[in-house]
Amino acid sequence: MNINSNSKTLCLLGHPVSQSFSPSIQNHLFKKYNLNKLYVCFNVKENNLGDSIDGIKALGILGGNITIPHKVNVIEYLDWVDENSRLIGAVNTFKNEDGILKGYNTDGKGFVKSIIDKGYDLNNKKIMVLGAGGASRSICIELASRGVEIIYIRNRSIEKPKEISEAIMTNFDTKVSCSVDKIKREDLDNIDILINTTPIGMGTCECPIDEAIVPSNNLLVCDIVYKPHNTQLLKWASKHKLQVIYGIDMLINQGLEAFHIWTGIKPIKEDEDEIKHIYEASINI
Ligand code: NAP
Repeated sequence: MNINSNSKTLCLLGHPVSQSFSPSIQNHLFKKYNLNKLYVCFNVKENNLGDSIDGIKALGILGGNITIPHKVNVIEYLDWVDENSRLIGAVNTFKNEDGILKGYNTDGKGFVKSIIDKGYDLNNKKIMVLGAGGASRSICIELASRGVEIIYIRNRSIEKPKEISEAIMTNFDTKVSCSVDKIKREDLDNIDILINTTPIGMGTCECPIDEAIVPSNNLLVCDIVYKPHNTQLLKWASKHKLQVIYGIDMLINQGLEAFHIWTGIKPIKEDEDEIKHIYEASINI
């Protein structure tokens, strides 16, 4: 990449950011599409967020991503957020339009694209989502906007599932059922898609469901955890010959959506494949 006096900067704001894959995604695309842009990471602690946003405006940074712990708090510093982000209550992408900072959320869209790309139709489907944090909320809102019939949210506590349920029931036709109960085989028999959005399995070989369960239907199993690539939940699913979707697909897709917001360029399948190869090489799959 030829960085010069006309290069424009985009960035990630988060804490920590040292393990982020976003620079690999975006700098690959900037180079490929011959854009004189550069993506860097800024390690921003919680109490420095406001100053960072002022800095973005002052320096003319074109846009960027927002990650933990700023996805919710950043909204108060933005000039505008889209309807999707308002419903989710969190932003993971922003664009600087002549000093006006606009916020978007590409997490749920990125996840849903990973399902649709595999040829699945979400209309009238029954879906179980494990976890009710920020990622769950953006995925559930996006699923509801795609016309799924019912979302069963399972979480260890009930407050966050209820908040997601309320947001969905007041804005969409999708039904929501919340529970803290342990998952049984009968629960899985009743759904089309199972999605893990808890961090269970991240960096460990723990599984968010009881691995002794033998599913009797042909459900699709998705994990948004991407480290390790093949999580214990996905190993369990593969053992029972179920279709799986890996967390890396959502990670790449949310980045492609953000690239589209900043540049107006819609990435193609070849871009996705190239980025997947970069990722696989980086973790030695
Ligand atoms: P979050 O806001 O902290 O939410 C985590 C959720 O999981 C909460 O509902 C929490 O329950 C539940 N949970 C946490 N630890 C648990 C445990 N030990 N046992 C049972 N439930 C537990 O996190 P997030 O931002 O949604 O992220 C969740 C995971 O998704 C992380 O691993 C993150 O790396 C991954 N992620 C992946 C992508 C991608 O592109 N692939 C994007 C975003 C996030 P309570 O409500 O009771 O606290």
